[in-house]
Amino acid sequence: MNHVLIIGSGCAGLTAAIYAGRANLKPIVVDGHEPGGQLSLTTMVENFPGFPDGILGPDLIENMRKQAQRFGAEFKSGAITEVDLSKRPFKISAGKETFETRALIVAAGATARLIGLESERKLIGHGVSTCATCDGYFFRGKDIAVVGGGDSAMEEANFLSRFARKVHLLHRRKEFRASKIMVDRARANEKIEFITPVVVEDISDVTKGGVETLTLRNTETNGISTLPVEGIFIAIGHEPNTKVFRGKLDMDENGYLITHDGSRTNVAGVFAAGDVQDHHYRQAVTAAGSGCMAAIDAEKFLDAHPDL
Ligand code: NAP
Repeated sequence: MNHVLIIGSGCAGLTAAIYAGRANLKPIVVDGHEPGGQLSLTTMVENFPGFPDGILGPDLIENMRKQAQRFGAEFKSGAITEVDLSKRPFKISAGKETFETRALIVAAGATARLIGLESERKLIGHGVSTCATCDGYFFRGKDIAVVGGGDSAMEEANFLSRFARKVHLLHRRKEFRASKIMVDRARANEKIEFITPVVVEDISDVTKGGVETLTLRNTETNGISTLPVEGIFIAIGHEPNTKVFRGKLDMDENGYLITHDGSRTNVAGVFAAGDVQDHHYRQAVTAAGSGCMAAIDAEKFLDAHPDL
């Protein structure tokens, strides 16, 4: 039986592993379906403290992983398929393998929704981004596009207008899901141009390894047009990776885990960290901070319940 099992190996899970390892809890980390989390899908990270020249997302994750291993964390690959939190020890299954653990830290992250184009996937980190806060700075003086019609898209378009020469806001309908005040703010921004109702059909140029043009289809007329941009931000929402916890842990209407008093969930001994419980900040450094909190909370819980 393990003391602590951590689900997820992004920034939150790895920081929890470093702290739990240093507390001599010999944590087991189950990678999940996206080892390394969202940082492993980015290129340069310039806002993680301690790296004045920036660091590549995959390198930052690899460093954290090595740091966790140095303190005794053990890594298992595989996605979680079933959890039983109804009795102790908790039982966590990843395919055919089942783990028993006294405490559980859920750091399974959230996945940014993508449009679903092959070119989009290939150009992530090379002009295609899902995080304006992370990547906006790279598009100073450039023409870019934001896809989406919710509050995130409006917020990101406004934020990006600080850097970009022009921001094209692309949405598939003429009506917006975003709150009126957010839409009005974006409309009042002279750097933002709304293009509706359109969907992005292709992003080129994959062969050149960068974004040059978008192929747009008008959803009413089916007319095709081409938009030259150097970057495209996909802001069509996130999905927290919490399906296996439905009915077992409290979550909000969008599926984000609800925490209280630090990282505690509604089940004693189960803690949550990172984007799986945070739809607001979504930063590497905040995920790392909450991973630290979850490990400290788990350690305190285990100390207080030596019988469990
Ligand atoms: P959201 O409200 O779910 O909006 C997603 C948008 O993306 C919708 O406009 C949707 O279009 C579009 N979309 C979804 N799938 C698409 C696809 N495959 N292709 C093209 N477009 C697609 O998500 P969100 O904007 O990330 O917001 C999430 C939550 O956080 C909301 O509750 C929001 O209010 C909140 N939030 C608040 C603030 C703030 O108040 N400052 C800022 C950000 C987020 P349709 O409308 O046609 O479905």
